[in-house]
Amino acid sequence: MNVEQLDLDGSTGEGGGQILRTGLALSMVTGRPLHITRIRAGRPKPGLMRQHLACVQAAVAVCNGQAEGAELNSRTLLFTPGAVCSGDYRFHIATAGSCLLVLQTVLPALMLADGPSKVELAGGTHNPMAPPFDFLERAFAPLVRRLGVGLELQLQRRGFYPAGGGELVAHIRPATASTQSLAPVDVLERGTLQNGWAEALAPGMARHIATRELETLGQRMGWTYEASQLRHPPTRQNEGPGNALIATLEYEHITEVFCQLGERSQSAEQVARRLVDEVRAYQRSAGALGPHLADQWMLPLALAVWRSGQAARYTCTKVTQHTATNAQTIALGLPVRLQITPAEGAMRVEISPAP
Ligand code: AMP
Repeated sequence: MNVEQLDLDGSTGEGGGQILRTGLALSMVTGRPLHITRIRAGRPKPGLMRQHLACVQAAVAVCNGQAEGAELNSRTLLFTPGAVCSGDYRFHIATAGSCLLVLQTVLPALMLADGPSKVELAGGTHNPMAPPFDFLERAFAPLVRRLGVGLELQLQRRGFYPAGGGELVAHIRPATASTQSLAPVDVLERGTLQNGWAEALAPGMARHIATRELETLGQRMGWTYEASQLRHPPTRQNEGPGNALIATLEYEHITEVFCQLGERSQSAEQVARRLVDEVRAYQRSAGALGPHLADQWMLPLALAVWRSGQAARYTCTKVTQHTATNAQTIALGLPVRLQITPAEGAMRVEISPAP
């Protein structure tokens, strides 16, 4: 195993928390120490915020690692990984930071570990600039399962920014611990649309907010209550306050989930229109993965390519800065080659073992 230090410049490209999270994950799976400078230099409040510190602490916990510079506002981190241990973990993310981003930090290591793990997380489940629970459950986890990894997510309570209070549990069964081995998959086409529906979550808010969001969205998408395409999911105890409008598109080969969070400065109608714009942009392209899934799918797939020695590809609607930056980071951390090229009405990502 190559133990050469992985040096990352956190100001590269997107310059956000993803470089840190991908760097930690790469360090844990390869055993290479990670030295990252200029952490989140591209953000208005650079350095490690509580949310990012939670990712570092979770990484330290799952591999008995050591971290120098793991302090609030720190812009440099030296992370030395130890051996990854499967098992039961519980992470509490202060200030309603995203549980899902912490989970994505430790998932790569735990999906390659020597046994199953249970990860309990408390914090935010529906945060700005982070994947919401529903996206991980319906869009991301099914793709990870196609690699041969067991990944089951259970939502116990939703937590919205800034109150937090959300809880979820992830059960991870590594491919190597089952009869199957980690195998990459190609995801090039969506197939036919089988179901499209929306749900408005608005715990602790006036009921008319969810209703107006669903009605505006329903008119534009042609979705109705009668066809169960517009839904008011039940609120659980102690949830909220918060508001998320979520659209789920189930295709033959992929499910995509789009989410807009309600904001004080925006009307319910504006939230719905923003979501419709996002869904329409996805539908106009031929790419299988939407813009967020495209950046998040890259690391699990690259791990499968690395471990199996087989190339894999996917198409996506567009290459965001997150996607381009993640490709650069992954290529520095793993012996794989990433090529991003235009395809018909889409973009195509190909990951192959480095020659
Ligand atoms: P960063 O801004 O670098 O901390 O990274 C944020 C991560 O959250 C990226 O992987 C984004 O794709 C992801 N993300 C942000 N908003 C959404 C959303 N609405 N749905 C799914 N993923 C999201």
